[in-house]
Amino acid sequence: EVGYNYNLVTSEDVKLPKRHGNTHKGDYGKALIIAGSKNMTGAAYLCAKSAIKAGCGLVKLVVPQSVQSVIQGGLYEVITYGLAEKNGILSYDALSSVLKLIEESDAIAIGPGLTHDRDIPQLVYDIVKNTDKPVVLDADALNALVGRLEVIQGKKIILTPHYGEMSRLTGLTIDEIKNNLFEVAKTFIDRYKVTLVLKGAKTVIATKEGSIYINSTGNPGMATAGSGDVLTGMIAAFLAQGFSEEKAAIYGVFYHGKAGDIAKEYVEEYGMTAMDILEDIPEALKCGL
Ligand code: AMP
Ligand code: MG
Repeated sequence: EVGYNYNLVTSEDVKLPKRHGNTHKGDYGKALIIAGSKNMTGAAYLCAKSAIKAGCGLVKLVVPQSVQSVIQGGLYEVITYGLAEKNGILSYDALSSVLKLIEESDAIAIGPGLTHDRDIPQLVYDIVKNTDKPVVLDADALNALVGRLEVIQGKKIILTPHYGEMSRLTGLTIDEIKNNLFEVAKTFIDRYKVTLVLKGAKTVIATKEGSIYINSTGNPGMATAGSGDVLTGMIAAFLAQGFSEEKAAIYGVFYHGKAGDIAKEYVEEYGMTAMDILEDIPEALKCGL
């Protein structure tokens, strides 16, 4: 077992590197997002758009073929790929195309809105198994790996479960998780040697480097549908821009909460939507400049 150290994440810890004049979009990373299904197109939109808003140079988005036109309308900055599907849900036949796209990408995010139906669990499993690139696993990508998490061991992976997803991954009850956040996180990292973002009112990040981070931003307005999809896109953006898994997790979580805190100034907690959080990512990033 690693001797862990504990840290509160503040604005001092998330300084953004200055951008040099003589650069182009290739210098700021290519992220590939695999998300969405016919009843959850918004999850894919929020995740991909958040990656762009967090400074990623180029974002590609894989969705089921029949929802591609719906997603592409209004998502001007993102390249979309409509891949093989059954009834509006990605099918296993998408695997080879996805693996090809991964080869051209610096970071991957998988999960928001995929569903837990049909081929999704096996598709996700084989994507994870066949890549060594940095990957964020969220939502249905976590559900896909329940009972066979050994596939993530030692890979460049960040998992972003909320307590419900963590409960499914570990077999612990939500109360057991809530009452032992640090112990649960450390046990998980000792076993799988990855980076864990355990989301909640105070999100805890545990890294294979032996650190526990507790976030200092965010508010209850962020307990709203799609909020986590925004975080996933942001973390993918930092990974694509060359941050380590540890740093990408810290930066993503801090700025996501900060964006929610800025949104709270004008929409308050009751009316806050995931789109409000997304829109305030650029303002949030100012505190790292
Ligand atoms: P998800 O449940 O996947 O949509 O993720 C919800 C996101 O909102 C996570 O990043 C949580 O940390 C954040 N969040 C939810 N509730 C709160 C809260 N009460 N205070 C601060 N952040 C929250
Ligand atoms: Mg979620």
